[in-house]
Amino acid sequence: MEEFITSYDDDDTKFVGMLNGDRGPVIGRAAPAHVLIRGEGIAARCCAHLLASAGLRVSCERSDRPRIPAVLLSDAAVALIRDVFGQPGLLADSARIERRVVAWGGEPAVVAHGAVVVSEAALIDSLPINAGPDIPPTVDLVVQAAPSPTLPPPHRFGSRPAVAAEVRLKPTADPASCWIEALEAGWLFLVSRAGEATWLLGVGDAIDDALAESRLIAPLIADVRRHSGTFDACPRIADALYGEDWLLCGTAAIAFDPICGDGAAQAVREAILASAVIMGIMEGGDAPGLLAHYQSMLTASMRRHLKLCADFYQTGGDGSWWDTELKALVEGHDWCSARLASAGEPRYRLSGFRLVAREG
Ligand SMILES: Cc1cc2nc3c(=O)[nH]c(=O)nc-3n(C[C@H](O)[C@H](O)[C@H](O)COP(=O)(O)OP(=O)(O)OC[C@H]3O[C@@H](n4cnc5c(N)ncnc54)[C@H](O)[C@@H]3O)c2cc1C
Repeated sequence: MEEFITSYDDDDTKFVGMLNGDRGPVIGRAAPAHVLIRGEGIAARCCAHLLASAGLRVSCERSDRPRIPAVLLSDAAVALIRDVFGQPGLLADSARIERRVVAWGGEPAVVAHGAVVVSEAALIDSLPINAGPDIPPTVDLVVQAAPSPTLPPPHRFGSRPAVAAEVRLKPTADPASCWIEALEAGWLFLVSRAGEATWLLGVGDAIDDALAESRLIAPLIADVRRHSGTFDACPRIADALYGEDWLLCGTAAIAFDPICGDGAAQAVREAILASAVIMGIMEGGDAPGLLAHYQSMLTASMRRHLKLCADFYQTGGDGSWWDTELKALVEGHDWCSARLASAGEPRYRLSGFRLVAREG
């Protein structure tokens, strides 16, 4: 991912939000709690906005990481982000994708699709923050919303490496389509952005081998310009999602296989839940119960995701690569089920951006 270069303004590496959005402050303490958010992705931005809107003091610690060149956001994901930030027009000018061309264990089929494609940098920059003073020496709670080498390695459900390549499309390629193609030992996903660089995601096989085999996507590509280093595309979950005064959020907590196209929306959903848990704790709620609820809900999300992935990997191909990845997904599903079995019934439910106790 080293090639995905984005620079930060020096004075934009940290920010403190004290937003009092139209939902009004919900924390009535004389000295509002101070939450430190480590991260610079969509999960960090959503947490910061929701917590600051609720009247908490929020600091963000950012690091200089490469940004993802192109992210496809479904209409539902965009609606969720707009809701969090109270901005109905957010991303309205983004390039739209209206069709998905799918060659998945059979002949290509065209399916209607409603999504926008944006760079991660453009997405993050469109989300509002308030700039302010530096991080204080003590904080009440830390939200770790970025991968960190200090975290224990996560549980991994598969072993599929991925590469993103910048490609040049032939003029005949439809700019309102995206394409997905299953191959002998992996799959390809291509999405274009009118007037911007086009990115090809290759999972499994080396990208050159994948393109040599491809019948749907390779004919659309004029040439491959450069590609990223290898990164993980298998689903992953941290063993512990929280401690006494910290919790993990976004990719640091759970990472989805890109086959589902739901990674960014999942990061937003985690941020909503994490923020609701923190607000509950700061209002004097049952901290161990709220944090345990957070871990269970994220484990349940991972289990649903693994089931969805298994449906895809069962039908993508019948070679040993597909069998191995499917087996890992099934094992992961069992692992999540075992973890949920000891968690008991959920005690809370989300009501808007707040958690309320379930009745009965
Ligand atoms: C190439 C690529 C394409 C993607 N395309 C889509 C898509 O089309 N639609 C969608 O919904 N989701 C997509 N995702 C996933 C989505 O970007 C993440 O789920 C989302 O950004 C997570 O938000 P976060 O706040 O947790 O981010 P972060 O935790 O900040 O991480 C965002 C991404 O950057 C990576 N990352 C973080 N730190 C580093 C680092 N130091 N060096 C290198 N990489 C790092 C993470 O593994 C993660 O994939 C894609 C991910 C990648 C890597």
